[in-house]
Amino acid sequence: MSLTAKIETPSITYEQPLGLYIDGKWVKSVEGKTFETINPTNEKPIISVQEAGPEDVDIAVKAARKAFNGVWAKTDPSTRGVMLSKLADLFDEHVDTLAAIESLDNGKALSMAKVDVGLASGCLRYYAGWADKIHGKVIDTDHETFNYTRHEPVGVCGQIIPWNFPILMWAWKIGPALATGNTVVLKTAEQTPLSALYAATLCEKAGIPAGVVNIISGFGKTAGAAIASHMDVDKVAFTGSTITGRTILQAAAKSNLKKVTLELGGKSPNIVFNDANIEDAISWVNFGIFFNHGQCCCAGSRIYVQSGIYDKFIEAFKARTAKNVVGDPFAADTFQGPQVSKLQYDRIMGYIQSGKESGAKVETGGERHGTEGYFIQPTIFSGVSEDMKIMQEEIFGPVCTISKFETEDEVIKRGNETTYGLAAALHTTDLNTAIRVSNSLKAGTVWVNCYNMLSYQVPFGGFKESGIGRELGKYALANYTQVKSVRIRLGGALF
Ligand code: NAD
Repeated sequence: MSLTAKIETPSITYEQPLGLYIDGKWVKSVEGKTFETINPTNEKPIISVQEAGPEDVDIAVKAARKAFNGVWAKTDPSTRGVMLSKLADLFDEHVDTLAAIESLDNGKALSMAKVDVGLASGCLRYYAGWADKIHGKVIDTDHETFNYTRHEPVGVCGQIIPWNFPILMWAWKIGPALATGNTVVLKTAEQTPLSALYAATLCEKAGIPAGVVNIISGFGKTAGAAIASHMDVDKVAFTGSTITGRTILQAAAKSNLKKVTLELGGKSPNIVFNDANIEDAISWVNFGIFFNHGQCCCAGSRIYVQSGIYDKFIEAFKARTAKNVVGDPFAADTFQGPQVSKLQYDRIMGYIQSGKESGAKVETGGERHGTEGYFIQPTIFSGVSEDMKIMQEEIFGPVCTISKFETEDEVIKRGNETTYGLAAALHTTDLNTAIRVSNSLKAGTVWVNCYNMLSYQVPFGGFKESGIGRELGKYALANYTQVKSVRIRLGGALF
């Protein structure tokens, strides 16, 4: 089997790497296994890629260790920054290809995929800027001692990413890790391996030395688990479901106590007060849940609307949702493409069924869209109670609930009644309400009069069971560095 293939997408034809990218080379897996990735728009296989198993993970970790101790340790911080910056430029140059791969493999609309690639290059460029600005401190204790701290890289970082934003998560993970002098073994999600492999070719072009970035395709229970339990991986950064996050934390505890950062699920409340600008709020509420087909960890899936505007809001929200164009990701006006996989499609349809059976009212949607591909109609449930499954569990699809509330205290309590704490939002024209309520919501990000606004300068991560640590911004640098204190005695003997 060749390790590249020509792939035709509706917008572009390109050369797709299919191998494992280890130590700067494209290789087959040790066991010779491959797996197919499926086009969610037509349910047909796109191509097969090499499938990493534990032995391949081990080889990749050894390559990353060799680079960490060797070439990368000798590369000065400014040069790391220049390489990351070059990589960002290459992402921009290859935006049409990277975006087409995302639309083909993940199903997201091409226009949105281009935004993802732009955000990914921005993220890489942002961390390029940090590479030579990572400083320790000088700490005074007494006249005979000189103390300083160094912020040293953690070492070999395992990075396990999901399928909802394949190229963006690649950049969120690789940017801060490389800026701070780490090397990585990154495993993509089995549903969407293609864009990460293409991005590996750009690492080569950016001059990043062999072994610094290793990209492997494979499954969670084999390759992912091998990373999480590997004795020579110093840190693992994971984005995905809370249940898998727990498994990773356990694997770290049982192996070498590697550092763990987790960016997990959510069931985020989106609150609209009587005094909100309704038109603006509706556009953000719609975007908050239906962007990326609801496949966002921070999706605003629990919508609470104050009683004074509830009836008006629900009608206007339904009308706004009806304008979301669902269909071919490569069509210019598409907003919502298919769900990523059959498994996700079935899970979401199961939640819709559960909502119907528990007596919730389907305001709009509630069915499959079309006859081919994993498309689901944007779905709004009303008449829900807090104990319903669709109110408690992350659906990760284009499905939301809408509930009426009376008072601020009540909605804060209901908004916080979840084991998650990734994001929350509120819509109001009263500054006091905005500050009071955002202070009271237990979430890592609170949006006021907007939703899903993510910028690489601003930290992102979860309270409660939504995660550990923060990605993005200066905060992410702490995930990838460890502090060493050096104490130099200026005087002579102790006694
Ligand atoms: P998942 O968490 O199982 O998969 C995410 C990544 O983890 C993939 O790369 C996968 O291969 C890997 N993985 C799976 N099991 C592993 C293990 N035991 N050890 C190490 N790595 C492992 O998610 P999923 O099964 O694809 O989706 C299920 C649900 O997860 C979704 O319905 C959604 O609720 C949630 N999810 C959340 C996010 C997010 O951004 N927070 C992303 C994807 C999925």
